[in-house]
Amino acid sequence: MVERVCVFCGSRTGDDPLFHTVAEELGRELVAREIGLVYGGGGIGLMGGIADAVLAAEGEVIGVIPEGLAQPEVMHAGVSDMRVVTDMHERKALMHTLCGAYIALPGGVGTYEELFEVVAWRQLKIHDKPIGLLDTRGYFQDFDAMIDRCIEEGFLKEKGRDLTVRESDPRLLLDRLLS
Ligand code: AMP
Repeated sequence: MVERVCVFCGSRTGDDPLFHTVAEELGRELVAREIGLVYGGGGIGLMGGIADAVLAAEGEVIGVIPEGLAQPEVMHAGVSDMRVVTDMHERKALMHTLCGAYIALPGGVGTYEELFEVVAWRQLKIHDKPIGLLDTRGYFQDFDAMIDRCIEEGFLKEKGRDLTVRESDPRLLLDRLLS
């Protein structure tokens, strides 16, 4: 039983409003399933969007933010359970202990960095938490193409494809992730 999902996503909204809409849908769907949100604590971009959606539906939100980012202009002002930690390493360790699954939404290099770490650690069997890619507008096709290339060139076993689950619909993604 997964009590909370850790979401990695952009600190920007992206150019297409659909990214924000789908982030909000995922937030509402988490609340509908009584699953809490663990995320990076930002009040901006898709991070702010999903946190706002969960809070509006009266769900649980835990923000985990490093000191350097804990400034009023970037930190979410409405998240009461905000854990301010020393650095990114501490942030990721705490996020890991708080969640039972991961979902990545579209984002930039910060999102990819967080995603790749949990995928690599799953490969190394450091954890066995499911990892979902919310594939709005096929955003994570390139991620899967990279994995395919690793396999084709002999750098990853075939079962490397099973490290993540990719779906464009938040409900389907959660169904597959939590089944
Ligand atoms: P990016 O995908 O490059 O926008 O980076 C998103 C990731 O960077 C988030 O998941 C956070 O780890 C971190 N990050 C960037 N900006 C913020 C912010 N304002 N508040 C909290 N975390 C942030």
